Amino acid sequence: MMGPRQEAQAALFYEFCLEDHVPDDHSLRSIDRFVDLSSIRQHLAAFYSSTGRPSIDPELMIRMLLVGYCMGIRSERRLCDEVHLNLAYRWFCRLDLGDAVPDHSTFSKNRHGRFRDSDLLRHVFETVVARCIDEGLASGQRLAVDASLIEADTNRQNSTSKEEWEPDKIDPEVAPRAVREYLDTLDDAAFGAATPVQPKFTSHSDPASQWTAARKGPAYFAYSANYMIDTDNAVILDVEASRSVRQAELGAMQTMIDRTKNTFDINPERMIADTAYGTGPLLEWLVEERGIAPHIPVIDKSGRKDGTFERADFAYDDENDIYICPGGKELKQSRRAFTNPRIPKADKYGVIRYRAQKADCDGCSLKQQCCPKAPQRKVTRTIHEPSRDVARKIYQTIEYAISCKLRKKVEMLFAHLKRILKLDRLRLRGPCGAKDEFHLAATAQNLRKLAKLIPEPNPAA
Ligand code: SF4
Repeated sequence: MMGPRQEAQAALFYEFCLEDHVPDDHSLRSIDRFVDLSSIRQHLAAFYSSTGRPSIDPELMIRMLLVGYCMGIRSERRLCDEVHLNLAYRWFCRLDLGDAVPDHSTFSKNRHGRFRDSDLLRHVFETVVARCIDEGLASGQRLAVDASLIEADTNRQNSTSKEEWEPDKIDPEVAPRAVREYLDTLDDAAFGAATPVQPKFTSHSDPASQWTAARKGPAYFAYSANYMIDTDNAVILDVEASRSVRQAELGAMQTMIDRTKNTFDINPERMIADTAYGTGPLLEWLVEERGIAPHIPVIDKSGRKDGTFERADFAYDDENDIYICPGGKELKQSRRAFTNPRIPKADKYGVIRYRAQKADCDGCSLKQQCCPKAPQRKVTRTIHEPSRDVARKIYQTIEYAISCKLRKKVEMLFAHLKRILKLDRLRLRGPCGAKDEFHLAATAQNLRKLAKLIPEPNPAA
């Protein structure tokens, strides 16, 4: 029998409880257990006037942003619509059925205004990291660092070549926000001052983004998302936005190590990273200044392709500061006998040269394998070699092999960031936009981690 036709009848009164309509296993329910925004009002207090029209609740704004980043909703307009329509999102945002959802323009205004001035997103991120540490998910001993390119919200046609780019002619009074931020960060080590080399092209709409072909495909404008994670459970301990050049990424690593030490008193035993981080100065900084074991492959260009002896074939005598060649002869910096021994003299690149005696090489049977085109053999050593040797020794240990596997965890987080959270292209422009997006994404990833690893307490227990 065909039942009666269903027609919506507008009821005068509803008895409706949002709580009852959010499934127990909904991911936002698990995440909600770890969202503690009780301190943000106090954090923001100085940025609100005591008079005027009441603003939108900052906690609501943050909860909406967390919904967006946890659920991979990238558009602000769509996020406002989704929170309006989705019961679980409303529940997470503490909105009842009849409560109004802020429109997307109010949303943007707050993101670029008070939130940014007060560094609120950093505060929220650190609150979640502190929770991860309290829950025992991060011991802070074995850390890994890496950077990933995230495409900037720019059009590659809308750019100027380095020959024609003239930042001095930009008027900050009329320039858009992202261009003003670019001017403000010209002396910043993570952006303008990272390298004196000018990029081939500079974007008009987001000049701080870097023109890069690092992915071996067509070049594009990008920022680097730098993550420092604890490898116990892949908790992101710190995040930093930088220009997509190696110097800026190395600087970001140092910034993150010091900031984590100051904020959470974390003194890692080892730092795991790929070859891009294996420069002499950075290894020395880790070993000598911070006492951290570098589980990082050393960048070594001393190898030779012509089959002649490499530097590794020469033994360094630390006590006498000489090299011993395969023929058993000594290579020294200088053969003059000084009354007062001199400190090794390096050139402006920090390189010290050791030379064999011409008389030794002339009569040597190994000369064709050693220096067939030179009168005598020369070997170079940088002033960072002791720290590079520390990294080389670690490279041969079983712990290093374990570290190589642990390093994959940070790569997995970047894959998750791009595929699941859909942050493969930024929506906000400028260094501050990139910073905000990376902080929110890292916060969302840590919250999802907490929700996954810390089980719900059993009410029956
Ligand atoms: S050529 Fe000179 S440096 Fe090379 S093995 Fe012979 S003596 Fe030593």
